[in-house]
Amino acid sequence: MNAKVRLFVDQPLGMGQAVAVGPEQANYLFAVMRLTVGDAVLLFNGRDGEWLGRVQDAAKRRGVLLCEAQTAPQSLPPDLWLLFSPIRKERTNFIVEKAVELGVARVQPVTTRFNNAERWRHDKQLAHAVEAAEQCGATFVPEVADVLPLDRVLASWPPGRALLWADEALAGQSANLHGQIAPATPSAVLVGPEGGFSEEEKARLRALPFVRPISLGPRILRAETAAVAAIVLWQAAVGDWR
Ligand code: SAM
Repeated sequence: MNAKVRLFVDQPLGMGQAVAVGPEQANYLFAVMRLTVGDAVLLFNGRDGEWLGRVQDAAKRRGVLLCEAQTAPQSLPPDLWLLFSPIRKERTNFIVEKAVELGVARVQPVTTRFNNAERWRHDKQLAHAVEAAEQCGATFVPEVADVLPLDRVLASWPPGRALLWADEALAGQSANLHGQIAPATPSAVLVGPEGGFSEEEKARLRALPFVRPISLGPRILRAETAAVAAIVLWQAAVGDWR
């Protein structure tokens, strides 16, 4: 097979299915990666698994790939959401990329007292998530939601979903989540910005019945490390890393 490129396409995939690519993807496939007619590309769309596609037509601003065989079934990440406060650009990029690699169903940025929505570029982060999925072999791209105020997200919290709040006040306590959450519980982890949460936010979180404060170990982690640690702890305890 020898495909050196993996590509997300928002089109149906199936045996014999022709997949048209537009100017941006044509430029990437045929100019940047120098693929030509007959070359193989791995394709996924988040619904139909992964397929081996063969370049049938390669032009400067368009192209056609033909699906030849399914190479992986569709798989979904466990039902975990990541809630975090956007921080500096490259660190937010890191959080989105790692969340996709580690396996979450949804990325939900939230504004809090000590950050603001200007730090979130939704279009760029969507593209970033797609790129991360292409690179890590996932057949699924998590939903990347637009930024919302934390208050609003909490006010419309779906029944039955646990919210594990990384509370730096618990630093030093055990971070082990094994046996602490029932398997298959829809969950979310919430991590704060560099400045942490305000006193009002902490009081609100403590008062909510679906919120459970958790520790991320003995040291205070940077926000991006905390996001990775929270996902890993959940994945290892009840997710698809077990
Ligand atoms: N300067 C902030 C403070 O002291 O309030 C620290 C914020 S920390 C850099 C960013 C976020 O990571 C926190 O809001 C929290 O959600 C999470 N965090 C970092 N270390 C943690 C720990 N050991 N236990 C629980 N949460 C932690």
